[in-house]
Amino acid sequence: MAVATLTIDLNSLVENWRALDAVSADAVETAAVVKADGYGLDAGRVAAALAKGGAKTFFVAVAEEGVAVRKAVGAEPEIYVFSGCCGEDAALLNSHDLIPLLNSPEQVYQFLPSAKPFGIQLDSGMNRLGMEPEEFAALKDQITGAGPKLVMSHLACADEPEHPQNKAQLDCFRAMTEGLTARKSLSATGGTLLGADYHFDLNRPGVGLYGGAPFVDAKAVVRLSIPVIQTRTVREGETVGYGANWTAQRDSKVATIASGYADGLIRGIGNGTLNLYAGDTPCPLIGRVSMDLITVDVTDLDHVPDHLDLLNDTQTVDHLADAAGTIGYEILTSLGARYNRVYKG
Ligand SMILES: *Cc1c(COP(=O)(O)O)cnc(C)c1O
Repeated sequence: MAVATLTIDLNSLVENWRALDAVSADAVETAAVVKADGYGLDAGRVAAALAKGGAKTFFVAVAEEGVAVRKAVGAEPEIYVFSGCCGEDAALLNSHDLIPLLNSPEQVYQFLPSAKPFGIQLDSGMNRLGMEPEEFAALKDQITGAGPKLVMSHLACADEPEHPQNKAQLDCFRAMTEGLTARKSLSATGGTLLGADYHFDLNRPGVGLYGGAPFVDAKAVVRLSIPVIQTRTVREGETVGYGANWTAQRDSKVATIASGYADGLIRGIGNGTLNLYAGDTPCPLIGRVSMDLITVDVTDLDHVPDHLDLLNDTQTVDHLADAAGTIGYEILTSLGARYNRVYKG
């Protein structure tokens, strides 16, 4: 087989959820964000594993994603939709028992008369989704009268603990929700790690479950093992790959492996800072990443194995992200469709 194997460790996923759950007091619920197809790892499988592990509440970005999650977790868990109720969503929300987080007065006017369960998303300073303080104040009686199941907001800078906007948003959220009896939620992974002030009734981690920063103690969830297609000797002074970007400084052995930017290994990772692993032994990624192929300097190996690993316990999605100037979230959600996907646990 000349496709790479992406192994997704659902046991580690559940361990990460438990570890994040343990950060907050017992009375605080820890939900799970499984939007974007479970950060690219299959929302159905991810949600089913987390539900079995104890998660009772899930969040998706759009109603369509909630359908797959409902199928995977059965009737019991609550599934919230961040984008609320847009356009023709009402039928889908109703038929799959999904709870919209209403974001605007328009969504409130459209959805409230249906007398179905709903939540409210408030804007406490990120200016992306949610009702502004004045909009919410104007509708507060009507909304509280209808009994929202959850009132939430989202932090813009929680991955930077010292950022002054964290406290500003906390104060704004407290002021907006003062006196409300509905359950409240402010924090994703980053906010969960900011401490109890940020916890309210429910935390909503996403990326930390999947092994990404800012949850630095997370266990790796994805492993990527890439088959070696060919090895060759490259003489000192010869170059490798597009743009003749890498020049051998000595007679070298180069392995060509079967993944590239079409598999989500974005071209920016080929800037000379990453390794492929032969077991525990690092071998430098050299030259440019091409669509289906990557080249690796294996000169120092006694024996070139069938596969070289790009993601393991040592080199995580965050290392790939740093090499490419992006974030672990983008690496995870870019992992391609061509891999042989193996689920453990
Ligand atoms: C994506 C998202 C989350 C989860 O964020 P992570 O940083 O992945 O933990 C939580 N809440 C909202 C509103 C989101 O959009």
